[in-house]
Amino acid sequence: MSERYDVIVIGGGTGGYPAAIRAGQLGQKVACINAWLNRDGKPAFGGTCLNAGCIPSKALLESSEMLHKAQHELTLHGISTGKVAFDLAAMQARKDKISSGLTGGIGALFKANGVTGIEGWAKLLGDGKVEVTPHKGDKQVLEAEHIIVATGSEPVQLKIAPHDGEFIVDSWDALDFTAVPKRLGIIGAGVIGVELGSVWSRLGAQTVLLEAVDTFLPMVDAAISKEALRHYGKQGLDIRLGAKVIKAEKKGKGVQVSFEFKGKTETETFDKLIVAVGRRPFTDKLGAKDVGLELDERGFIKVDKGYRTNLKNVYATGDVIGGAMLAHKAIEEGVALVEQLAGHHTQVNYKAVPSVIYTSPEVAWVGLSEAEAKAAGHEVKTGATSFAGNGRAKALEAAVGQIKVIADAKTDRILGVHMVGPYVSELLAEAVLALEFAATCEDIALTMHGHPTLSENFHEAVLSVDGRAIHAINKKKAA
Ligand code: NAD
Repeated sequence: MSERYDVIVIGGGTGGYPAAIRAGQLGQKVACINAWLNRDGKPAFGGTCLNAGCIPSKALLESSEMLHKAQHELTLHGISTGKVAFDLAAMQARKDKISSGLTGGIGALFKANGVTGIEGWAKLLGDGKVEVTPHKGDKQVLEAEHIIVATGSEPVQLKIAPHDGEFIVDSWDALDFTAVPKRLGIIGAGVIGVELGSVWSRLGAQTVLLEAVDTFLPMVDAAISKEALRHYGKQGLDIRLGAKVIKAEKKGKGVQVSFEFKGKTETETFDKLIVAVGRRPFTDKLGAKDVGLELDERGFIKVDKGYRTNLKNVYATGDVIGGAMLAHKAIEEGVALVEQLAGHHTQVNYKAVPSVIYTSPEVAWVGLSEAEAKAAGHEVKTGATSFAGNGRAKALEAAVGQIKVIADAKTDRILGVHMVGPYVSELLAEAVLALEFAATCEDIALTMHGHPTLSENFHEAVLSVDGRAIHAINKKKAA
């Protein structure tokens, strides 16, 4: 007799493990099967986010930012130090400790919520059955009333730039460099490109980003992406827009990259080349073909609004179904699904998905850009205020950037908030809440904000929509 569960979650990343925990809280008998092995061969829950993405990259971003502050900002505060140096091995060890601390904690959360964690590969057999090939021990077959596939995504590899893990690397490899490359090339100036570029450039790498498209960060409001690009340029990131890489190969001790730029073919040589051109759904070893699980033409699992696949009682959530490839979107989908399976009425609000780029200054946005709002047929009114007049930002030596608010002129509803500036990753939560509660500009205008805080600048930006900002020169007459 095979062991029977109410819910089996396949995948222990952010799409999977929170869903398993929530199912446990709801009194379900649940197992979470996870195949992830770290580079040291050790299994770990937490998936890309905790092991090879969000968390380790944030650890290195913070360390490299600290170095930058020590080198360039402390003197502005009147603090002098001796020669500032850094130990990359110590930085990497700190990063690894943060990741392992968090991934290790998932075991404790599973225990507290009655989740059975299983380390190994899962394959769909049909009729509610799942075959597990554990990293250690014999194969077994489990059964469940409901099966959730949350197997995530992996970096896209380019045939024109074949991955070798040493010279031509992906975003995971690039978090584990043991020495700072002298010259670093990055294909793709998307979210991963600019975050990893910031890390290694701050640590001393001469960094060039080759971006095929002419528009920088096209999902961000144009005023914000333009300002972000200006700051990155000032920091030394060499971002070449409209540079389409056509070939990359190892030459001697480096990588030679050819790209089309302004109608000509150019070449550059780098010590390392990071390929950061997006992520693709990961469905290997799931047995999708054998069991008849329907995928779309790009390999994403097809689901309906209730996350149902074409197979009875098999569901899918997170990166593997497409949409924004963000950890928090995956978490919300997994949790909403298990709640729905338990008879609750929950849903994910795809109009209020926060996005953040953890560079310095940070970029963060939720909802529509001005161009998107106009294209969607809204009569748009906007406001924007810079951080230049914000006291807290000045005290932080970070008075750069701006907040832009996009609202519907007829209803006063806030449609989007896009920002670049200090800690906007944290400020974004208020804007997400505004969208979630369908707030109007008036609602925010009437909300008191602490002084002196960075969040005051959101208040000011909303006030500026109607020409009412107090600490900024309004571009329009006050309403
Ligand atoms: P991306 O889609 O953000 O950017 C990839 C870029 O590569 C695109 O701009 C594309 O035009 C460019 N490109 C593709 N082929 C090229 C070529 N031959 N030459 C030059 N440029 C080329 O993808 P990403 O940065 O790899 O990120 C992957 C996913 O992970 C995204 O969905 C992202 O949102 C997510 N992610 C999020 C965070 C965060 O939330 N902070 C951090 C990392 C990753």
